[in-house]
Amino acid sequence: MAIVETQALTKRFESGNAVNSIDLTVHEAEFLVLLGPSGSGKTTLLRMIAGLEQPTSGEILLDGKAITNLPPRARNMAMVFQSYALYPHLSVFNNIAFPLQTQHMARNAIRTKVDWAANMFGIGHLLERKPRQLSGGERQRVALARAVVREPAVFLLDEPLSNLDAKLRITARDELQQFQRRLATTTIYVTHDQIEALGLGDRIAILDHGTIHQLGTPREVYEEPADAFVATFIGAPPMNLVVREGQSTLGIRPEHLLPPQAYPSAGETLCTFPIHVSRIENLGSDRLIYGTLESPLPSVKVISRVPSTIDAPVSVDTHYKFVARQRDLRYFDPKTGLRVEETS
Ligand code: ATP
Repeated sequence: MAIVETQALTKRFESGNAVNSIDLTVHEAEFLVLLGPSGSGKTTLLRMIAGLEQPTSGEILLDGKAITNLPPRARNMAMVFQSYALYPHLSVFNNIAFPLQTQHMARNAIRTKVDWAANMFGIGHLLERKPRQLSGGERQRVALARAVVREPAVFLLDEPLSNLDAKLRITARDELQQFQRRLATTTIYVTHDQIEALGLGDRIAILDHGTIHQLGTPREVYEEPADAFVATFIGAPPMNLVVREGQSTLGIRPEHLLPPQAYPSAGETLCTFPIHVSRIENLGSDRLIYGTLESPLPSVKVISRVPSTIDAPVSVDTHYKFVARQRDLRYFDPKTGLRVEETS
């Protein structure tokens, strides 16, 4: 069992609150992602859970027991950092074995454990090398192997893929998810990359300025954003927001704002958006169409993402009526940014 909870967890630095009274429950075997822009408090929250940072106030619980004042090594959690923090003078074998050697485990048992972890990450043939003789992806696997070898109750991962190139990140993401599922170890994963968050997380906590704006499955945070911050932080290009005088702010995802040809079936309630098209980017699988809304709507810049399978004759510097399904529109309070139901 490993359920991690934080209760009103707060960290104040001289510059202000990095983490602001966060209540969070991470379920048994869950892969929970902390997602947010730079400076939103993700790393500070993770470091407090790891015991590397002392909270200003609040509690951290593991399986219902307070661990707030325990030192990191007494928490049964393993952390992997962005930098991997491998020991450069030690071989891969000894890097992975290190946490076991400090526990004075018998040599044979260590050998068995290291082989098990190394094989899980496909680095069994690299055990005699030093970290400098490895690629970025291999180093990352060594760091993960070192984390799993102790069979901790919780993995804490701080942007472990960010040093990898784009192609390797995709493979590494896949491997990471597979090993987490196989070990069924409760995992908290920090990233500012929304694709990584959506792809890996069972649930995602979206942070800004030290508070959680929304905690939900990838589908919930994408389709039912709790506020305008979440709506524009998740999704690329972000949700279009149309601020309207005396009304709620209207939110439309680019892939929902389409030429009428996209919605041939009758029975859908469609809303019309007259647009002056200013630029078109052809991305292969999609076209991104940039434009400005026209009267009677406020003059706001918007983006439409049209799949290349939709054959619509849209060209630059033309006026065109785009549509969106009523049920795809979202509304936000213009003052608080919170999601509201449309009233008008
Ligand atoms: P990033 O994605 O850039 O790593 P983050 O979301 O992990 O950002 P944190 O590193 O947790 O954010 O930082 C949150 C806030 O706390 C920031 O404003 C940061 O400047 C501040 N902060 C973090 N560590 C310290 C520290 N040791 N002393 C003072 N301020 C700090």
